[in-house]
Amino acid sequence: MTAPADRVEPPAAAPEPAEARAPGGSGLAIDVQGLTKRYGGRAVVDDFALQLRRGRICGFLGPNGSGKTTTLRVLCGLLTPDAGAGEVLGLPLRTRAPDIRRQVGYMTQKFGLYDDLSLRENLEFIGRLYELPDRHAAVDRTLARLGLAERQKQLAGALSGGWKQRLALAACLMHEPSLLLLDEPTAGVDPKARRDFWDQIHALAAQGITVLVSTHYMDEAERCHELCYIAYGKLLARGTEREIIDGAGLKVWAVQGPDLAALAEPLKSAPGVLSVAAFGNALHVAGQDEAQLDAAVAPLRGKPGLRWSRTDANLEDVFISLIATAQDNFAAKAAA
Ligand code: ADP
Repeated sequence: MTAPADRVEPPAAAPEPAEARAPGGSGLAIDVQGLTKRYGGRAVVDDFALQLRRGRICGFLGPNGSGKTTTLRVLCGLLTPDAGAGEVLGLPLRTRAPDIRRQVGYMTQKFGLYDDLSLRENLEFIGRLYELPDRHAAVDRTLARLGLAERQKQLAGALSGGWKQRLALAACLMHEPSLLLLDEPTAGVDPKARRDFWDQIHALAAQGITVLVSTHYMDEAERCHELCYIAYGKLLARGTEREIIDGAGLKVWAVQGPDLAALAEPLKSAPGVLSVAAFGNALHVAGQDEAQLDAAVAPLRGKPGLRWSRTDANLEDVFISLIATAQDNFAAKAAA
């Protein structure tokens, strides 16, 4: 989860795209249902559905191993699902995967460009792969679009993490895709570069490009128009930040005082407590059942030096609680 020092201040609100452009279409860039992908008999993506309007930025969240990368690879036509169907950019996922790939920009987690080529040479290479008709002009246009023109002769290997990610984004924009699938594009990137990267994403969305972007950073989640959250391959929550927080129906106690770490452990195993997490100087204790939650904190309320208050749930409280609920369901199924 996001360390406070790594935080990028979110804007007051994520701006809406200028227009959801959908000439002749449904207005949906992604419209899939029932997507399932199995490895070794295990469904790592399980009955996944998503509808995403064009020009929107959707954050894709979930713990490591929850199936985000696999879902992104299915959506860009690189993996064939074992079940499910739908359309990406108006093209049927099952029958038009090669056409989908040509219109989608997919940014992998790992930097996949050549360290020993310059920025320009890397983009020229990508232009050749896509057999772009006017390659030099496309490279010039892309360098300018992402503010990379002045650095075009630098070797990619000499770039800082943030500039490398910007080059990787440039590479997936070379063929002018209308949908971007970005897999943790800012992992390990410093806060200033993350902020610049997100400004860029918003500028692209304002041009009508749709973005589905996976991230572990809560401040980045706050910069998305909407969010989806998966765990164990299952979609657990979907909507705007406000809708997801309201939908979770969490009650939260905040406690401040000495030795909060010692309080956390017993609270985590108390009935009705779904999440215990530190935020700055406070510990949040959250659950859905108010009576159970109050009973869980009651024995600690009288402890000297502690200040207790009720507070609003934040996204991280909700996501930790969702995992706890999903694990409960999982355990319940196994026990049945
Ligand atoms: P995330 O991106 O959320 O971290 P992934 O989609 O990478 O999750 O992985 C989901 C699960 O699928 C993990 O348990 C992972 O080990 C498994 N997995 C992914 N790709 C393969 C593969 N090619 N073969 C077998 N298991 C895989």
